[in-house]
Amino acid sequence: MIEVTLLGTGSPIPDADRAGPSTLVRAGSQTFLVDCGRGVLQRLAAAGSGAGALSALLLTHLHSDHIADLGDVIITRWISTFAPDPAPLQIIGPPGTAAVVQATLAAFGDDIGYRIAHHADITGPPGVQVHEHTDGVAWEQDGVRMLVGPTDHRPVTPTIGFRIEHDGASVVLAGDTVPCAGLDALAHGAGALVHTVIRKDLVEQMPMQRIRDICDYHSSVEQAADTAARADVGILILTHYVPALVRGQEDDWRARAAAHFSRQIELGDDLHRVQVHPGVCAES
Ligand SMILES: [Zn+2]
Ligand SMILES: [Zn+2]
Repeated sequence: MIEVTLLGTGSPIPDADRAGPSTLVRAGSQTFLVDCGRGVLQRLAAAGSGAGALSALLLTHLHSDHIADLGDVIITRWISTFAPDPAPLQIIGPPGTAAVVQATLAAFGDDIGYRIAHHADITGPPGVQVHEHTDGVAWEQDGVRMLVGPTDHRPVTPTIGFRIEHDGASVVLAGDTVPCAGLDALAHGAGALVHTVIRKDLVEQMPMQRIRDICDYHSSVEQAADTAARADVGILILTHYVPALVRGQEDDWRARAAAHFSRQIELGDDLHRVQVHPGVCAES
């Protein structure tokens, strides 16, 4: 079984109830944080985990809403891991990730210096190992395999999706993307597809052109459902709602997806949890 928790279902627009984009995936004894938007560590605590418990941080792309709390994850893991010689944080992302991580460490350079000077048992900066991928196997450890595939969020490029497999169960995390062959291939036959969505019918009516601009590089609810149907996945999990999903309107969003995808559809508030069992769908 793989467990998916929607830690943050929000978007770049601050929301009193929704943290920024982030999803927690627990597979066997391993824990993966996918993107790290605003407020991620508070949601991680609410889900019973923490920065120190992560097997790896996965980044789908380098848009600010998806990496807003990258510094918090790196620094908090560093100062709240009390065992000597802690394992470096593994970060897997698209090309460009290493430069962003280096720049983040540089931004916290003063803080890192203060803590090394103040605590005798902190002798070096945060340990981080970055792995950049666009395609192929990115992780294979203790029965968990992770595949990466290209998505299409242009002009943001390169962007990637992840497929995590464990003991016959599988989950694909699409990130922000329009429908594309790379995601179709990655998601084929998966137990669940976690997909970011926008309501183009609502966004297109907004008076600000800058907001309407987002329609050309995101999937609508209907497009995400089409992708799920084409890929023959077992469960479609919607997140990153733009505009914010208003409580009481869940059925409207669900109906739009259900018109295109006839299996299980999940959506909801931060900390919504979905179990993905083996054999939900044919293995690819
Ligand atoms: Zn994006
Ligand atoms: Zn986004």
